[in-house]
Amino acid sequence: MALIPRTIRELAIEGRRTFVRVDFNVPLDHGKVTDRSRIESTLPTIRHAMERGAKVILASHAGRPKGKRNPDYSLEPVGQLLAELLRCEVLLTDDCISEAAGKIVGDLRDGQIALLENLRFHPGEEKNDDAFARALAKLCDVYVNDAFGAAHRAHASVAALPRLVRERGIGLLMEREIQALEKLRTTSVHPFVAVIGGAKVSDKLGVLEALVDRVDALLIGGAMANTFLAAQGFSMGKSLVETEKLPLARSLMQRAKDRGVKLLVPVDLVVAKSLDASEGRVVGTNLVPDDSLALDIGPKTVAAYRHEILPAKALFWNGPLGLFEHKAFAEGTLGIARAGADCAGFTVVGGGDSVAAVNQAGLAERYDHVSTGGGASLEFLEGRQMPGIEAVKP
Ligand code: ADP
Ligand code: MG
Repeated sequence: MALIPRTIRELAIEGRRTFVRVDFNVPLDHGKVTDRSRIESTLPTIRHAMERGAKVILASHAGRPKGKRNPDYSLEPVGQLLAELLRCEVLLTDDCISEAAGKIVGDLRDGQIALLENLRFHPGEEKNDDAFARALAKLCDVYVNDAFGAAHRAHASVAALPRLVRERGIGLLMEREIQALEKLRTTSVHPFVAVIGGAKVSDKLGVLEALVDRVDALLIGGAMANTFLAAQGFSMGKSLVETEKLPLARSLMQRAKDRGVKLLVPVDLVVAKSLDASEGRVVGTNLVPDDSLALDIGPKTVAAYRHEILPAKALFWNGPLGLFEHKAFAEGTLGIARAGADCAGFTVVGGGDSVAAVNQAGLAERYDHVSTGGGASLEFLEGRQMPGIEAVKP
């Protein structure tokens, strides 16, 4: 893989101020981290840096504070949890580029860790501002990007900053992500099956277009499937349908047909009268009542999709098949999560919500790769250049 930047293993980090861009954008509830998987997945990189005696500077964004200081988006709870996980002190700075931050970083001993406060407290982060990047660059001698989930964004800590630091590369998580997704992107094994669900066709258009030329079967679910079904002439009642995307859905279906790719849409659905209904009813796709909306795929669809998934030699899954946050509409997503777990081929799941579903079902270990990047994993599979990867190349 000629495109792979150097990894932290190959960088001279001993005794040097090593800036590690991590993705600590974790869900918080009243100051408690409710899902620590993103923090855990970057621990190997942090431990590696500590063990080699780097002075470790961790930096991340969290939430959308929109360029202003906001205690609700402080990384303090993350720092506390990290200290527990690593069983060592984590020094949290008051701000990422303040004089005090510079002092804390300058005083770090080899193997010690500082966590900079939320990068997005400064508007320069999202603007990829040069002056902001320079202020960050002053803090470090080495730059490591381990934030795969943020690699598709041209933000200062991801794009402008690494270009200012000569000794630069990627962390161990980023390396794993790139290897797994590159393997899938360039795979020549068959059958290659993709399951795409989630909320909107418009979010997934790029990946649908990229995959339809590569896979043997494309299985569609989630609210997105409604648009495909409407495009085939089914009446979808009150379901979410992106009317302006109907022509695109039709052209994707035609392209699949021309290429001999199986593009499957649900044959049955779980419908209810509202999003907060406590239970649903299974109907054939041709029988969605006018007063109801489709909130999950039905059991026949799960069985048909499972039948395609099991023999797959390569599988990519992104996006829940229904409103899985509600128990009544979670069966479709769970059924697909199980099918993916039972598939003996090379299996990858990506996407914030689909990964949450796989974790909730306790099935993560049974996938070859669970990506920490939602949008990033899709852009990678589309073959798009990613700012965070380009900027760390030698
Ligand atoms: P991911 O984060 O895995 O990429 P998306 O963000 O595209 O997935 O979509 C996830 C959201 O789509 C979830 O909140 C889920 O409840 C919702 N969703 C899926 N299917 C339906 C449906 N049929 N009706 C309403 N919402 C749905
Ligand atoms: Mg999502």
